[in-house]
Amino acid sequence: MAQNWTPTSWRQKPIQQVPDYPDLAALAATEERLAKFPPLVFAGEARRLKASLANVAEGKGFLLQGGDCAESFAEHGADTIRDFFRAFLQMAVVLTFGAQQPVVKVGRIAGQFAKPRSSGIEKQGDVSLPSYRGDIINGIEFTEEARIPNPERQIMAYRQSAATLNLLRAFAMGGYANLDNVHQWMLGFVKDSPQAERYRKLADRISETMDFMKAIGITPETNPNLRETDFFTSHEALLLGYEQALTRVDSTSGDWYATSGHMIWIGDRTRQADHAHIEYCRGIKNPLGLKCGPSLTGDGLLELIDLLNPTNEAGRLTLICRFGHDKVADNLPKLIRAVEREGKKVVWSCDPMHGNTITLNNYKTRPFERILSEVESFFQIHRAEGTHPGGIHIEMTGNDVTECTGGARALSGDDLADRYHTHCDPRLNADQALELAFLLAERMKG
Ligand code: PEP
Ligand code: MN
Repeated sequence: MAQNWTPTSWRQKPIQQVPDYPDLAALAATEERLAKFPPLVFAGEARRLKASLANVAEGKGFLLQGGDCAESFAEHGADTIRDFFRAFLQMAVVLTFGAQQPVVKVGRIAGQFAKPRSSGIEKQGDVSLPSYRGDIINGIEFTEEARIPNPERQIMAYRQSAATLNLLRAFAMGGYANLDNVHQWMLGFVKDSPQAERYRKLADRISETMDFMKAIGITPETNPNLRETDFFTSHEALLLGYEQALTRVDSTSGDWYATSGHMIWIGDRTRQADHAHIEYCRGIKNPLGLKCGPSLTGDGLLELIDLLNPTNEAGRLTLICRFGHDKVADNLPKLIRAVEREGKKVVWSCDPMHGNTITLNNYKTRPFERILSEVESFFQIHRAEGTHPGGIHIEMTGNDVTECTGGARALSGDDLADRYHTHCDPRLNADQALELAFLLAERMKG
């Protein structure tokens, strides 16, 4: 076990991004209730994800991680979950073909509720209110009442996560994720895309491969790998009281695991080495993500790696780089060199969303070209350094929203008002997400 660590040791450390709960006794009572609730995920599943990520760290796989910036109570429903899963699986198939490697599928889902904010205060006109911090903490409506943190929301988030996970498990194992289905959806997307010609070549090659497999008797009926899929959940471990309540000892290994999701990550705003979020995460055995933004130095990163992965276990740590399309070339090489110099085993993943947010017509948005450009630079830099560009981390939805500009349908700043539904940052819609997968797969195949 990590030295001097307990599930509560983070409480002795300085901490960022803490909601101002008005009733601490009510908060403690809620945490006590949560601590008695069943785990959402199991240690064995988290270990299986870690083993898959270990392959990625060794250059033998690719990580696809994505989902909402913030899940919301308002958008919770079977259709939203299904549409996300459909888009995500199609991306995974396209990327599997592009990378010619297994794709490890990790959703930002079934627990991605708490949001770090740049400012604790939000201003509209003359009115200032506490910022929205995600549905697990307070409400998005711009009223004094909605913005008061309410512990009961943690119970609602837990129950929503359980229901979401239940449906995802059924989709993954019950035949819906069958490769024939995913292939048909993908062909439908290509047919309807304004870029159909461009994507058809790759789609045809996938179809040919499927036909060949069928001809030699490999079908979803005969092969569980084509009928079922491994799908894992992840979220930012921001609200540590909630995380602590769901931290449990695994009966087979005696180790502590976060059971709120398979993988959890530490945000760019809460990764101070001597603070609470790093303290909590170092003691649990799940695979961890660490967001790496422009302020992180090579030495700073090595210090965090030593805290989070002292035994240099492959698959334990994924570095999720989020610099911005114009900053990645200045920042990524020095981190790669520091990690390589010390022989640290990590998965390198690219989050091309969080460094590319701009404001247009009063909407926060992200231009598709900049998202693509950051991922392309990420790939090129890794090729030049001789390291493995191991994954992407994106904010997306299966719905037809208008939150990011660009893409094959060339959404403009004027389109943003049409269907701008996000509870926090702008997401790629289903078409844009799939396009990104096609464009990356083309480049991976060369
Ligand atoms: C996020 O992933 O939604 C997020 C807040 O990211 P970061 O910590 O990288 O800013
Ligand atoms: Mn976000």
